[in-house]
Amino acid sequence: MTRVGPIPLLLATALLAPVAAIGAPAGSPVGRSPRGRRSQAEAPAPPPSEKQPLYRISGCRSTGTVAYYHGPARREVAIGFDDGPAPDTAAFVKMLAANHTRATFFMIGRQISSAYRKVMLRELREGDVLGDHTFTHPDLEAVPDVREQLQRTLAVIRSLTGYTPCVFRPPYGDYDTSVLRTARSLGLATVLWNVDPSDWEVPPVATIVSRVLAEVQPGSIIISHDGGGPRANTLAAYPRIIAALRRRGLRIVTIPELLGFRPVYVHCVKLCDGLGLPRDELPRDAIVTPAP
Ligand SMILES: [Zn+2]
Repeated sequence: MTRVGPIPLLLATALLAPVAAIGAPAGSPVGRSPRGRRSQAEAPAPPPSEKQPLYRISGCRSTGTVAYYHGPARREVAIGFDDGPAPDTAAFVKMLAANHTRATFFMIGRQISSAYRKVMLRELREGDVLGDHTFTHPDLEAVPDVREQLQRTLAVIRSLTGYTPCVFRPPYGDYDTSVLRTARSLGLATVLWNVDPSDWEVPPVATIVSRVLAEVQPGSIIISHDGGGPRANTLAAYPRIIAALRRRGLRIVTIPELLGFRPVYVHCVKLCDGLGLPRDELPRDAIVTPAP
């Protein structure tokens, strides 16, 4: 059964949410500098927060009213990990960092708790992207509360990290035009995939690797899973996949980057949970929101 008719779009103001200013919570631990990159300028630097305003990532801005299965056929591909956060997520983040690669994590809202705050902040620090994968992982063509499914997940990610996703992946890849419209009204692009190694079936590592490499092409979006079950095989497969993609001359980017969605940065006051960057270190295409 397919629902007909969109949910009334009551919240035209939803797009305002991503630029809400996020201050570092009082009493949060002192942020560390981003891992291993551009630690000190050559000049004797004053404490950065004294002289230079810092900016922290607060989201991204997506466009488009269709579902994306891939990006443009440039020599770029993106990897999405679904169904976290989960016990294996931290190991995935570490593996990506060790391989100098970034990915997009589509998260299930009801699994997100303060216990995962640290790993989510590390993802943001390292340039990974957080995406919306609904609150309870239903088939969205079969439930009446699509807006709530998406909104609750946005809210919990935002409350823990100050980051508002701009990409959404429907569970099982099931969506209709009403789902697309609802997602769009919340600032979310609907993102599917065109390379699927079915890693959720826990095939051997070599099978995951060979399935990805058989299907991947310039512009591909690869789906895999960091949650929903034991993911050691997926985790072990990716260093090999990443190396093979690079040998083919494919650059690995996040899904927003692949689709040309710009990151949004907001002025942060002091600690910024270690996410603060001076303006000249922001990505070239960043949208910068001034201090509130
Ligand atoms: Zn899923």
